[in-house]
Amino acid sequence: MGGYTNDLLEQWDREYVWHPFTQMRDYVQERPLVIERGDGSYLIDIEGNRYLDGVSSLWVNVHGHNKRELNDAIKEQVEFIAHSTLLGLANVPSILLAKKLVEITPPGLNKVFYSEAGATSVEIALKMAFQYWKQKDSGDFKKKTRYIALGEAYHGDTIGSVSVGGMELYHEIFRPLLFDCIRVPAPYCYRCPKGLDRSSCDMACVQEVEKVMSENHEGIAAMIVEPLVQGAAGMIVAPAGYLQRVRELCSRYNILFIADEVAVGFGRTGKMFACEHEGVKPDLMCLAKGITGGYLPLAATLTTDEVYEAFLGAHWENKTFFHGHTYTGNPVACASALANIRLFEDERVIDGLQEKILFLKEGLKKFTGLDHVGDIRQKGLMVGIELVEDIMTKNPYPPEDNIGHQVILEARKNGLIIRPLGNVIVLMPVLSMSTPELGQVLDITYNAIGKITGEGGK
Ligand SMILES: *Cc1c(COP(=O)(O)O)cnc(C)c1O
Repeated sequence: MGGYTNDLLEQWDREYVWHPFTQMRDYVQERPLVIERGDGSYLIDIEGNRYLDGVSSLWVNVHGHNKRELNDAIKEQVEFIAHSTLLGLANVPSILLAKKLVEITPPGLNKVFYSEAGATSVEIALKMAFQYWKQKDSGDFKKKTRYIALGEAYHGDTIGSVSVGGMELYHEIFRPLLFDCIRVPAPYCYRCPKGLDRSSCDMACVQEVEKVMSENHEGIAAMIVEPLVQGAAGMIVAPAGYLQRVRELCSRYNILFIADEVAVGFGRTGKMFACEHEGVKPDLMCLAKGITGGYLPLAATLTTDEVYEAFLGAHWENKTFFHGHTYTGNPVACASALANIRLFEDERVIDGLQEKILFLKEGLKKFTGLDHVGDIRQKGLMVGIELVEDIMTKNPYPPEDNIGHQVILEARKNGLIIRPLGNVIVLMPVLSMSTPELGQVLDITYNAIGKITGEGGK
């Protein structure tokens, strides 16, 4: 590289780069933070300033940045080959990884279909479910064409994924482009869509799923759920037992169950996959984000023999799954995913997490003393702190206040990178973060919230 200065980089960023999920009119007013290097739990900018990576570089990083084993795996693979196609050919890392994924995911998921992003892994699951019912040879299921999804769901930004998405802010403008889907209430207990209280509701939201299924199951292909935590919605944690009950309903009504583990997979909730918490076996499972340890874009959609076999036939019967992306099964990405899973095993990552999860839980207690913290949600190393203007009424801060953004800018001044979801401050530390580093994440966040919301404690 070369031919640039730090000032020029900042200027060219404003001039040429359109950032995702970013209001560019605001963005270009602020000085961009340009990252140049990574080191363990830290991001390092072009001036050498170090920041704790409090959201795992948007929920992907697992073992820290610049991890030797991952670097080496990538270098080794590049020396063999960087890319060859999976259309009609196989490559070594994609075979080894598929076998490994089948071994570590819930039982019954025996087939792996690769792509490159969480959104595409969801598109694939939706299309597979649809085509499965068209081609299933016993029974008449051809009318099963619709999907059930949760309110506040987020499954990625391609049109199919947006169709099952339920977030007003991101999805509403595209409504005319989307296919219709049946929406059931999110298990968002702090702001229950049914106006009920968790202590006495008996999970009325599950009863609503049952009602929808009993009335419409003949037309429903699949239900898609983010297991345990609805991430982008603001870390909405489902009550214990919710996932299992929804899974059982899907089985009872002959509806495929799609687990979107893109965010929650690979240790984030304290187990390798969130479905394990409730012994749930999905019919289709979507993986991305943490699959390469946060190194390279790779995704996988796993499914059962039952689904796979519905696509078998003579080639002229056109039962083939006509779907693929050019870089599907990229060997370098698969090699990094293999190295990622090996590290989970060699470093006993899941065992090591339990102490960190408790540490976070303890540390979060003091946040309840802040006057504008309405709700604190935690599952494993996923945390959402919901800020409200008024704790008693749960009245949200108005969007104009941009309260979440102000908090994260304050945290940044003190060496922590986090990113809000509206009025929810998200903490999703790198799994390999040490407890002292986690303590710093908590302290900086606590002080930033206190300073911006204008209160110390009570
Ligand atoms: C991030 C996310 C996606 C989309 O993944 P991309 O790689 O950004 O396309 C899908 N589902 C869930 C639950 C996610 O959190």
